[in-house]
Amino acid sequence: MKESYLYKKLSEKKVQCQNCAHFCVITPSERGICGVRENQDGKLFALNYGKAIAVNVDPIEKKPFFHFLPGSHSLSIATVGCNFRCDNCQNWNISQGFKKLKEIPGEHLEPEKIVEMTLKNNLPSISYTYTEPTIFLEYALDIMKLARKAGLKNTFVSNGFMSKESAKLIIPYLDANNIDIKSFSDEFYQKHCGGKLQPVLDTAKLMKKSGVWLEITTLVIPTLSDSEENFQKIAKFIFDELGSETPWHVTQFSGIISWKLKNLPDTPVETLKKAYRIGKKAGLKYVYTGNVPGLEHEDTFCPKCKTLAIDRVGYFVQRYDKSGKCPKCNNDLNLILK
Ligand code: SF4
Repeated sequence: MKESYLYKKLSEKKVQCQNCAHFCVITPSERGICGVRENQDGKLFALNYGKAIAVNVDPIEKKPFFHFLPGSHSLSIATVGCNFRCDNCQNWNISQGFKKLKEIPGEHLEPEKIVEMTLKNNLPSISYTYTEPTIFLEYALDIMKLARKAGLKNTFVSNGFMSKESAKLIIPYLDANNIDIKSFSDEFYQKHCGGKLQPVLDTAKLMKKSGVWLEITTLVIPTLSDSEENFQKIAKFIFDELGSETPWHVTQFSGIISWKLKNLPDTPVETLKKAYRIGKKAGLKYVYTGNVPGLEHEDTFCPKCKTLAIDRVGYFVQRYDKSGKCPKCNNDLNLILK
């Protein structure tokens, strides 16, 4: 447990958390929406500090990052909790399932230990992922500072629903961020995630402006986020505000592993291909389908001469690029290689 880095004290021992865009006002003995921040006698505490619920070594492509340290593996960690409650959540057991428990579950691992594990396994990066890392900001930030000192990279896999204050705290130590734009409809965010769209877009723009490598992911949910209009709006936002070199991952939804949408079918491959075509037509250089291994739409082609530069089958990567350049025409492929 650690006192929160970002909160305001209000009257009658109430506090207002400044961590994410919910800005919860919390009365004594109560917790915020994320379930991991508690007001204890007028002070706000992160109950999940140092309590890792998941620690794995994952291919960086699983996050997904396709242009950041391609072909590498990343130490991937999470605590319980989330500031969203997405109906489609695949990690709902750790994002929501603990909320009735008094004790926050997780293995006690100090930031030093996480960095030590990363170095010991010869991994180049640490990813804060699986649940929303903003809700374990204190823990992540302390690890990030140590990781940076040790020459490691830090990546966030985020829903983007953080406050500007949180973003400004992490940006100096953050190398890459994959942000979900789940839909371009605020109604979707309110109804299916318990959040709002605008703060997500603001975070994406701030990350880009600050020089953090950015990739965007949209999980395509049949009937909820699979319209052409939705694809067009997201693609236009990426092109206009984040730049044509920002990769866009359009990934397949699976009802059976979702929290509350088990009645919905998997996203048809044809719908993913449609999103891919719309992204390309909008001018995006790198659009990728995800969760359907074997489609050529998960490969990197040179945007200039269309030559295959990175061949992917799921998380297996075969690179043909020379130092991040197209093997045929030497065009820059916007890869972060170290
Ligand atoms: S992190 Fe977000 S959801 Fe959690 S208490 Fe703070 S404002 Fe509320």
